Amino acid sequence: MRPSRPGPAELLQFGERYADLHDRRLADTLILEDAAEEREEISALDRISCHVHRRWVHECISSPTHVIAVTGHRWCRRCEAEASVAVDEVSGSVNVVCTRCGRAPDTAATRQILRTCRASLAAALESRRARAEVCALAA
Ligand SMILES: [Zn+2]
Ligand SMILES: [Zn+2]
Repeated sequence: MRPSRPGPAELLQFGERYADLHDRRLADTLILEDAAEEREEISALDRISCHVHRRWVHECISSPTHVIAVTGHRWCRRCEAEASVAVDEVSGSVNVVCTRCGRAPDTAATRQILRTCRASLAAALESRRARAEVCALAA
């Protein structure tokens, strides 16, 4: 089980990039994943928070930056076309669909996207709930 809060050394090394984020759980996750990635414990594609966009990964997976033809992330090899990711925040469902053939590329990369986006969606919802509780206490 990984710690949910970064330690002082991690904050010092990775915190500045995320100092202005309102969602502190997101900032903590970004810092923890930056640190874990630097220690080579996780790969960039295992992350549930995005270093490039400073967001939960399901929120920016639709950016062209997340299309990686070489690894098959958001990519249908059969069609040589981009796949899009549909995220339903209400039901929590995530789907990857090729923009040409309409099918989900049956690859490890697609399964990784489903896994990380579902986890990031769950983490974002939990963060939102926690912040709503704080606001309710303050009122
Ligand atoms: Zn991103
Ligand atoms: Zn296709």
